[in-house]
Amino acid sequence: MLRRELLGAGVAAGAASLLTAKDSFAQARVEQAARGMPSPKIKDISVIECAPQGVRLTVVKVTTDQAGLYGYGCATYTQRADLVRPAVERYLKPLLVGRPADRIEDTWQLVFNSSYWRNAADLNNAMSGVDQALWDIKGRQAGLPVYQLLGGKAREAVDLYGHADGADIAQVIERSKQYMAQGFRHVRSQVGVPGMAGYGAPQGANQRIPSLHDAPVFEREGYIRRAFSLFEAARKDLGEEIELLHDVHERITPTQALRFVKDVEKYRLFFLEDPVSPEDLEWFRLIRPQSSTPLAMGELFNNPNEWTPLIRERLIDYMRMHLSQMGGLTPARKVAAMGELLNVRTAWHGPGDVSPIGHMAMVHLDLTITNFGIQEYTPFNAATQEIFKGCPEMKGGYLYANERPGWGIEVDEAAAAKAPFRRDQLLNGGWGEIRLPDGQIIKQ
Ligand code: MG
Repeated sequence: MLRRELLGAGVAAGAASLLTAKDSFAQARVEQAARGMPSPKIKDISVIECAPQGVRLTVVKVTTDQAGLYGYGCATYTQRADLVRPAVERYLKPLLVGRPADRIEDTWQLVFNSSYWRNAADLNNAMSGVDQALWDIKGRQAGLPVYQLLGGKAREAVDLYGHADGADIAQVIERSKQYMAQGFRHVRSQVGVPGMAGYGAPQGANQRIPSLHDAPVFEREGYIRRAFSLFEAARKDLGEEIELLHDVHERITPTQALRFVKDVEKYRLFFLEDPVSPEDLEWFRLIRPQSSTPLAMGELFNNPNEWTPLIRERLIDYMRMHLSQMGGLTPARKVAAMGELLNVRTAWHGPGDVSPIGHMAMVHLDLTITNFGIQEYTPFNAATQEIFKGCPEMKGGYLYANERPGWGIEVDEAAAAKAPFRRDQLLNGGWGEIRLPDGQIIKQ
């Protein structure tokens, strides 16, 4: 008998004694290994689109040539949702069908280089769909949750912040108390600004501020005054125990941002997010030395050249990248490891327009790293949970993974088909404009 066959027989006999009949898939893997079976090959790549309660979610399904072995990855890009499907079906599928399904790093590098021009938002999301699906497959192959493949738990569950927003300050305080009653220790505080289009909170029914146009209007100093009124009230009503976060959403000038981070120190924010836009990253070198307010940045990043200098020079405290936007779990875990060496922590972007697969990928990564900071939380509504079976579970302000193999989520494709994309909406999901009172357009 050949040495390999002898070894294979030994593996099969030893491992079989450890397995129970209920784990037939794992048993089949052991038998395949013993027979020297080839690794699974990618047989098909398909796109599942759905819009539970109007939110467009895109998921990629990678199917292998081994019966019952497949995986899901998040490729959600709501603002240009129609571009992701052709990127997957016309470019990634022809490139990848027939290739091994168990070479994740190799596949990522292959896809990354295949467009020659790299780091485009739609292509990164398509790539993430495949990448996360291959991690799901790897977990299902091993019979383990993905977090085990990443080294196992470094924490029991993932600490969250909830969105406490309101048209007026009293509503924000009330919403914060609701989160605190559920066990949350962190809330993002955003309040509407009378008469203008604020970010992250309803505007309310105020008469709009004077302007020279009819588009949504925003005035920078009015927003800043309103935000500080909110912080004052929140600390007074909610006390010091709750952690407060705030998102500027890149809407003020860099010099206003500098003043903001200095003046807000006394309210001891957990972090201040996006004080400047990705086009103004150099300003962090001026802002950072002048304040102890923790800074968070990164949800719009597509390119390693955006996040690398900020982390390397410790110009931010929290990296906020959007996992599908940066190309999947594979790049995210590398950047997290870089951040660990420099004590820059994670706060992955977790809005409602990330599929539960994408949220679960963040949870699995969060569970395994020691520079975890916080995770943005968006509840999964009933319509979403009907399609995605096995969503992460929230208890006491923490999010939990389940113990099923891979991501632990099954997608009900029939239910997804009953909630199709709507394409009759204004701008087909794209964003419109925000303008200063004089009509100048500003960042969203
Ligand atoms: Mg944000």
